[in-house]
Amino acid sequence: MRAEILSIGTELLLGEIVDTNAAWLAQQCAALGVDVYFRTTVGDNVGRIAAALQTAMRRADVIITTGGLGPTVDDVTREAVAQAVGAPLVLNHALVEQIRARFEKWGRGMSENNVRQAYIPQGATPVENPVGTAPCFIVDHAGCSIFVLPGVPREMKYLTETRVLPWLREKNGDGSIILSKILRTCAIGESAVDEKIADLETESNPTVGLAAHPGQTDVRITAKAPTRAQAEKMIADMETRVRERLGDWIYGVGAETVEQVVARLLTAKQKTAALAETNTLGKIAASLRDTPEGLPIAEKVLHVTDAEVNAQNAARIAAALRAQTGADIALAVISTMGDQDMYNADTGKTFIALVSDAKTRNYSYPVGGMGEQAQNWTTIRALDILRRALL
Ligand code: ATP
Repeated sequence: MRAEILSIGTELLLGEIVDTNAAWLAQQCAALGVDVYFRTTVGDNVGRIAAALQTAMRRADVIITTGGLGPTVDDVTREAVAQAVGAPLVLNHALVEQIRARFEKWGRGMSENNVRQAYIPQGATPVENPVGTAPCFIVDHAGCSIFVLPGVPREMKYLTETRVLPWLREKNGDGSIILSKILRTCAIGESAVDEKIADLETESNPTVGLAAHPGQTDVRITAKAPTRAQAEKMIADMETRVRERLGDWIYGVGAETVEQVVARLLTAKQKTAALAETNTLGKIAASLRDTPEGLPIAEKVLHVTDAEVNAQNAARIAAALRAQTGADIALAVISTMGDQDMYNADTGKTFIALVSDAKTRNYSYPVGGMGEQAQNWTTIRALDILRRALL
């Protein structure tokens, strides 16, 4: 079964609100094995909403719209659906009574424009909305079912859970499900990951896709199968293949962060850590303190001139910090400060020294400055060095 999601609202097009409704609906469809090939966003305009609906009707078995069901003149979804299916809007008396009853319960009178909300396309099935005032409705037209839901996320979710999902479960004959798993890598760029698993990314079930964040690249494996057990098995097999290629670049799965993994390793191995940082201004230590373990990380924010940024000084600072704090592992992360450009982080220099058990390890890479990109990359690098030392 193919579903399409149509998000209605000019504020979505202006970027004033983020379309969390569509993301949530897409997740619900995926969990039921319902394919979503298109998601469309359209403003509060009758002609454009109707056109978007007609396009979607040609491609999908079911359309879920959200938004534009309010009582004001710019809430035009009802008119647009009527136009798209070529039916007049007619007043539904049962809906008028439902809206009136709700206002009475709140001790308020129903205003005339609330009556607008009780007009639905002729032949549509009205659906009471017990959690808000905008009633919604279902229209069956040309082999396609259109669920017209309110935009308010709480109402949209309630109506989806009580009306749309049961319908999808019943109609989605093949009953298959779609499952995803995310493998998280860090301190390796997206193109380097891509080079290692490019052939896997061309497979169709499971699919393998990449998403890049500063210093991190996620590998998402998605499988569609008749049962959860089969989908899990397909994902596990693909995960094995991805892990063979990416090895310990993969630091975790799901929602895990690098700092959580490092904090867990420190706790499990009963080790303490101390940090000296320059351009990251204490963020590396803070990220470890903010984990559920709440580790007491000793830290020093240093100022080092660009001329002093070198491997020897990093090692010297780390060794002194370890001696001073008595920590098992000390990390000095020193960067040049010259470049303030947040988009061009790769013109500076960073040296990281890790001292543990009288052993010193040195690292350097071409990122520096105070820009957000540089700070993110440096933080991830340092955490990854700590992680690898603890493995
Ligand atoms: P109501 O009559 O209850 O206002 P409605 O169907 O008219 O419902 P809208 O006016 O389009 O809904 O949106 C109401 C609010 O719901 C918006 O101001 C916004 O905060 C939220 N909202 C609408 N659409 C979305 C969306 N796609 N994702 C997240 N939030 C949304």
